[in-house]
Amino acid sequence: MSILASNLFPDYPCSCENDQPECTCDQEERAIRRYAYGLTNDPMTDQQREYCFAQVLKYSGVAVISDMRDMPDAMLARAVLKAWSM
Ligand SMILES: [Zn+2]
Repeated sequence: MSILASNLFPDYPCSCENDQPECTCDQEERAIRRYAYGLTNDPMTDQQREYCFAQVLKYSGVAVISDMRDMPDAMLARAVLKAWSM
């Protein structure tokens, strides 16, 4: 979703629900979906989590509150997907 975030996450295969043969998710979205769906147990780095906080703030306008700082990676990733869908 951001040029600055390129290569922030590994290049995971897509796990989105769309039935199309080719997905249009970018590298960050593919990674966020893997976390959101519990398909990876790799812990997010601080930098990856900061990216998530920034996405939630940017797309939902919701300020990052202290509870979000304590969210598990999967829950944080779901918050990002929700923000992107707003
Ligand atoms: Zn996809």
